[in-house]
Amino acid sequence: MDEDPTTSTDAGFAELGLRPELLRALADLGYEEPTPIQREAIGPLVAGHDLVGQAATGTGKTAAFALPLLQRLTTGTSDDPVALVLVPTRELAEQVSQAVHRYGRELNVRVLPVYGGQPIHRQLQVLRRGVDVVVGTPGRILDHIERETLRLDAIRTVVLDEADEMLDMGFAEDIEAILAETPEERQTVLFSATMPPRIDAIARRHLRDPQRIRMGRDTATADALPTVRQSAYLVARAHKAAALGRVLDVEAPTAAIVFCRTREEVEEVTESLNGRGFRAEALHGGLSQDQRDRVMGRLRAGTTELLVATDVAARGLDVEQLTHVINFNVPSAPEAYVHRIGRVGRAGRTGAAITLAEPREQRMLKAIERLTGQRIVLEKLPTVTDLRARRLEMVRTTVVEGLDADDLDRFRSVLASLTDEADLEQVALACLNLLHEANGGDVDEPEIPSIAPQREREFDNRAARRNGPGADRYNDRGPGRGRSADSAVTRVFVGLGRRAGLRPQDLVGAIAGEAGLPARDIGAIQITDRFSLVEVPEADADRVIRALSHSTIRGRRPTVRRDRPHR
Ligand code: AMP
Repeated sequence: MDEDPTTSTDAGFAELGLRPELLRALADLGYEEPTPIQREAIGPLVAGHDLVGQAATGTGKTAAFALPLLQRLTTGTSDDPVALVLVPTRELAEQVSQAVHRYGRELNVRVLPVYGGQPIHRQLQVLRRGVDVVVGTPGRILDHIERETLRLDAIRTVVLDEADEMLDMGFAEDIEAILAETPEERQTVLFSATMPPRIDAIARRHLRDPQRIRMGRDTATADALPTVRQSAYLVARAHKAAALGRVLDVEAPTAAIVFCRTREEVEEVTESLNGRGFRAEALHGGLSQDQRDRVMGRLRAGTTELLVATDVAARGLDVEQLTHVINFNVPSAPEAYVHRIGRVGRAGRTGAAITLAEPREQRMLKAIERLTGQRIVLEKLPTVTDLRARRLEMVRTTVVEGLDADDLDRFRSVLASLTDEADLEQVALACLNLLHEANGGDVDEPEIPSIAPQREREFDNRAARRNGPGADRYNDRGPGRGRSADSAVTRVFVGLGRRAGLRPQDLVGAIAGEAGLPARDIGAIQITDRFSLVEVPEADADRVIRALSHSTIRGRRPTVRRDRPHR
């Protein structure tokens, strides 16, 4: 048996006292140890305490609240939900719901995502059959409560996830109304990336003597970092594997570790890299000590250039010649980042730390910068043109290096016979082409869409939108915040107004949820008795119109079109 402690699958989670069904699910998912927020939150939540956690996306906060929910779950006793998770967007509702489903697979947990825009009758059917956990956006949850299709009498736990985002989207009143429908003796959990006074006020009003957890406060030593070049790329999840390949192409590391979150991810990334012509080896807690030793041996001997590993598996690993640490995701805590990149740039050598971040994870990058006091430069991904230029440059360098070789004379007779058939330049060009082909040849892959970084604190200053339904014009900051001032804006007509009970947050929620347009890109909103006007960036207008025309807002399907200029 393998005695290496780093390979024991779920010791970390088992220590938190989780039930075997959950431990098995986590092991299957390849989670090797709890993230810091999970380590701190799970115990108190299982014990039934209220909790306020300051944690951004990427910290593992979903499992931090979902596992205790499932731990406390007794399925089959009631058909009314026992847990309610409120989230700001449809996307998050689906993500959280899937996470609860995956972790609770062996418990046969019945979980339902509920958000605006989705046909309500499907939700009704599932609700009628009985559910244990409901994950939803406040607007739609309130709809169900008003229709009496969702009873909250059996609720034992309420989670407010991304509470700051929910407030920014104007959901404060809805949240209050929903909480008022739940039993007073419930457990209440609040997670938020930031802790503005309004969040604190909610916590004081609705939580009982909560435990408080804040991530990223510990001071880790950042001593090892000065010689490390730190950069990050913003990439959507779907393009991550391609982006990694491209970054590696351009960086051409001598030896690199690519860090992943789970065993499964290690396997996937290794496979994808090998498919792209790299020599990558997987290292994770599922391997025996023997297998690990062999992988390490190959890395030291230089036959492997790339190691793909989880934190646990890479612990204690000391590779002298490491030039690059690549984070396939933003690490779940700033301290883990510091720990990882302390591995390069040893003994005064220079090194690079490169992080692939999903757009939502930018806050985590900021937290890391605060901890290290150093900047992480956001770089643009190399384009296909960059890659082609780089391949040609490689051909050139290889030839330049080859000019110094000792035994070139033995090719003279070959060259002489070739120049009988073609001129010297043509022969040279053919040789360059062969070299190019041997290096992988032409780059023939699609462009990866570039993502503009968010401005810091761009979620601030939404006060105007929070004015409430009394005001006609909810946002007078002018068009297209979050985009450059000169980008074109289109006014979209929505055939629903005050009489239909429409509120600005319904529109923001529908546009963000249905068209995927970030709330910050939505401009002025005007609501009249019978219709509303919303400003959106011209580039997104068609998408918004299409999405809204197919969605239900406040129980109706509105007419949606471009506003005619001479209303
Ligand atoms: P979250 O911060 O909840 O959005 O989670 C970020 C990502 O980390 C998700 O893809 C999770 O599946 C993953 N994750 C959460 N906890 C762990 C863990 N203990 N080990 C590995 N991956 C995790």
